[in-house]
Amino acid sequence: MTTIHDFISRATRSCAALDAGHPAQEVWALGCHVLGRPLTKLLASDPKERIDPQDEARWTELMARRLQGEPLAYLLGTAEFWSLSLRVSPDVLVPRPETELLVEHALGTSPSQALRYADVGTGSGAIALALKKERPAAFVVGLDKSHKALRVAQANAQALGLDVGFIASDWLAAVEGARFDIIVSNPPYIHCADPCLTADGLRYEPSLALVGGEDGLDGLRAVIVQSGSHLNDGGRLLLEHGSCQGPATAALLRQAGFTAIRTYTDLAGHERVTEGTLHGR
Ligand code: GLN
Repeated sequence: MTTIHDFISRATRSCAALDAGHPAQEVWALGCHVLGRPLTKLLASDPKERIDPQDEARWTELMARRLQGEPLAYLLGTAEFWSLSLRVSPDVLVPRPETELLVEHALGTSPSQALRYADVGTGSGAIALALKKERPAAFVVGLDKSHKALRVAQANAQALGLDVGFIASDWLAAVEGARFDIIVSNPPYIHCADPCLTADGLRYEPSLALVGGEDGLDGLRAVIVQSGSHLNDGGRLLLEHGSCQGPATAALLRQAGFTAIRTYTDLAGHERVTEGTLHGR
């Protein structure tokens, strides 16, 4: 029978091909998940402790799926975002660290102000929940066309005890007449022929959350155009976009009458978020 330690060494060697770059970390993360132990306990396990054959089989199966390119977050069923532990499934995009830039800039400067936020295309609810966590006095609503995604978002809100409303909506269509101070969105923005869509990771994620039409800008266009009638005077719209879409997003905002347009760069040095302000509403 194999010991847990032997199993980990062997698994780490066989996972060395992972393009994620953290094979050891991923083997340990899956081990914690399968054995139901926190990392500290697993690290401190007795070198002679044998692994239960059922756990060994499950761990081996999950690593094989990971090696095929399935995102670690789907295998674990959870992902970390803005220090929140979120439930994720293949019905939602895995929250990315660069999306935290959107949250950071959407928080505004006055924490006590009870702002009204809408997160368009909320997916797992990551952005909406992070905003509510930081701004408990705010009114936050998350919109998504996918009922399956909304179920994940609702479960996350409940598990985290955060009062965020989630509504089925094609962009902003279901909230006709409602006005917000800040609208945020991480819409699908990859163009439909981009080869990255068939790469590991992305090919397991919902295309509804990734593909933004022929030029990748369909989602950004829709949110920009529809936000015009949903923002209060002086309201802001903040959008995540692809690293080459900053100028196009800024141009779309300008065309729709937005001013004070700014683009922010993520930690990898890519243009990632653009915002604009709308006056005279
Ligand atoms: N950031 C994602 C990626 O390029 C895309 C997410 C999106 O289309 N909104 O992997």
